[in-house]
Amino acid sequence: MSRAYPIVDHAFDCVVVGAGGSGLRAAVGMVEAGLQVACISKVYPTRSHTVAAQGGINAALGNMIPDDWRYHMYDTVKGSDWLGDQDAIEYMTKNAPAAVYELEHYGVPFSRTPDGRIYQRAFGGQSVEYGKAQAYRTCAAADRTGHVILHTLFQQALKNKVRFFNEYFALDLLMDEDGACAGVIAMNIADGSIHRFAAHVTCLATGGYGRVYFSCTSAHTCTGDGNAMVLRAGLPLQDLEFVQFHPSGIYGAGCLITEGARGEGGYLTNSLGERFMERYAPTAKDLASRDVVARAMTIEINEGRGCGPNKDYIELHLEHLDPKVLKERLPGISETAKIFAGVDVTRQPIPVVPTCHYNMGGIPTNWRAEVVAPKNGDPDAVVPGLLAVGEAACASVHGANRLGGNSLIDLVVFGRAAAQRAAELVRPHSPARPLPKNAGEEALDRLDRIRHANGELTTGEIRLAMQRTMQRHAAVFRDGPSLDEGCTKLAEVASRLERLKIADRSLVWNSDLVEALELHNLMPQAIATMHAARFRTESRGAHAREDYPERDDVNWLVHTLVWVDRQGGVTLGTRPVHLTPLSNEVEPIPPTKRVY
Ligand SMILES: Cc1cc2nc3c(=O)[nH]c(=O)nc-3n(C[C@H](O)[C@H](O)[C@H](O)COP(=O)(O)OP(=O)(O)OC[C@H]3O[C@@H](n4cnc5c(N)ncnc54)[C@H](O)[C@@H]3O)c2cc1C
Repeated sequence: MSRAYPIVDHAFDCVVVGAGGSGLRAAVGMVEAGLQVACISKVYPTRSHTVAAQGGINAALGNMIPDDWRYHMYDTVKGSDWLGDQDAIEYMTKNAPAAVYELEHYGVPFSRTPDGRIYQRAFGGQSVEYGKAQAYRTCAAADRTGHVILHTLFQQALKNKVRFFNEYFALDLLMDEDGACAGVIAMNIADGSIHRFAAHVTCLATGGYGRVYFSCTSAHTCTGDGNAMVLRAGLPLQDLEFVQFHPSGIYGAGCLITEGARGEGGYLTNSLGERFMERYAPTAKDLASRDVVARAMTIEINEGRGCGPNKDYIELHLEHLDPKVLKERLPGISETAKIFAGVDVTRQPIPVVPTCHYNMGGIPTNWRAEVVAPKNGDPDAVVPGLLAVGEAACASVHGANRLGGNSLIDLVVFGRAAAQRAAELVRPHSPARPLPKNAGEEALDRLDRIRHANGELTTGEIRLAMQRTMQRHAAVFRDGPSLDEGCTKLAEVASRLERLKIADRSLVWNSDLVEALELHNLMPQAIATMHAARFRTESRGAHAREDYPERDDVNWLVHTLVWVDRQGGVTLGTRPVHLTPLSNEVEPIPPTKRVY
């Protein structure tokens, strides 16, 4: 390859793209199995979005009241509005307690009960005895659970000698002609050098793509780069129409106030001072599932009962709580509310609005973390050499709506599963995997094109137009005409990429270029999300269609698959939901109406 860039070739047993909770857990497990592992991250590992997770991690430990993983499984299936795969959900909930104890042994400093056990708080959508009473299942380290998990896993990775390539931006997967993944190509952000990683197993752990929306709780880095790489490899993404809006993003700023705030006794009111959740979810009230609370809040605002001069937010009250609880259990959000809303939580309510928070959809995988794509009539055919974990993946344990605390457990359970699968697939220190001819050539052509873009629009301008379109047409409530309009508008916004201008052509720490690469990754995901939302003519979990208000199990108890080609052309399809658990330790949970 003759290029301006220096190209460096590497060979590893496994390469993990992403150093959030899922990538680090996978990398640690792979090294523990004797494999040589490279971990690539576009930000320093401890800056991954996992660091921002507040509320906690779910496992049926039963430290507060008796609990059982079967209740956790039931809640997760119900929370998913039956779109979750029951084999993967069984695997996650059954393995959750061991995964949390493993984190404890790695060194995670969980909050404690007076008798020294891991503290567990109440979270939304969680019950014991199949819906009978509120569960206390969410293990927490105050309101900084993600922070301590990420730092602990990073320390384990350093101890185990994972080879880190920090501040390297992965550009694309290197796919063989027969459709297997042979590694990944990346750019060192510091000096613009190009690195090709040949690997027997490539594991994507690149996180969600919250940044397609205007208002979101996720970090600026949450641009779903791995998802976009999968689309460019000609593979589908799954269930992208299911986007979680968290009930309590700080009005105007988007920063998250954890559901743990309601778990500790906080509640929501409208402009009349009513605790309106009593009307929408008589039993669970403020601790109903997130989609239910976000819709209720949106209805209150739309019907003129929002708070403030513009009647456009809801108030979250914590001022009645014991200051000791706030100090011990919710110190981080007390600080966030002060900084971003100017509110002293011991005296005033926090202004909140539903804010984009989590992507249930992503790269389809089975419960072993292997990426799947339909082939020769097999909907579950494995893509050789490719794994995906964390928010990037769609296992699918969250289905149409994720329960609070279920992402962190997903990261570590499936991070571990990916390591186990890699250990089965690869012999340690295997001879290097040969790279396909011209590996990465296309990715470098793209990089060159983007780097030399010389139009008149900035990345920021195009991104804002995309984000506003998503916020307007694909948020909490959707309907056909608005989604049609959204699809048309997005096609036009995507065409503006032709007129992009990169101000800085340097190869040395060019953040303008990195943001442009991210925008090129966000765009096909925005398009895929809007089209998938238009495709699914029912309401399920987080996908609420005003023109199709009911769930339709006859036609839509299926996963959506979406392919987006280089020109933005969209192909839609479906894949069966796995309604049968893995083992016979539990019965399948048949779909019923979802009430809280
Ligand atoms: C504010 C907030 C609070 C949350 N609180 C909770 C909670 O209390 N409980 C819970 O269960 N869930 C919570 N969640 C959800 C959960 O934290 C996330 O879903 C989860 O941490 C995602 O982890 P991950 O490993 O998939 O990816 P991330 O932690 O997002 O990490 C992605 C990694 O991929 C790397 N990467 C991405 N693109 C590239 C590229 N092109 N090249 C190289 N590297 C790349 C990044 O550098 C990063 O290391 C919260 C989310 C947010 C936003």
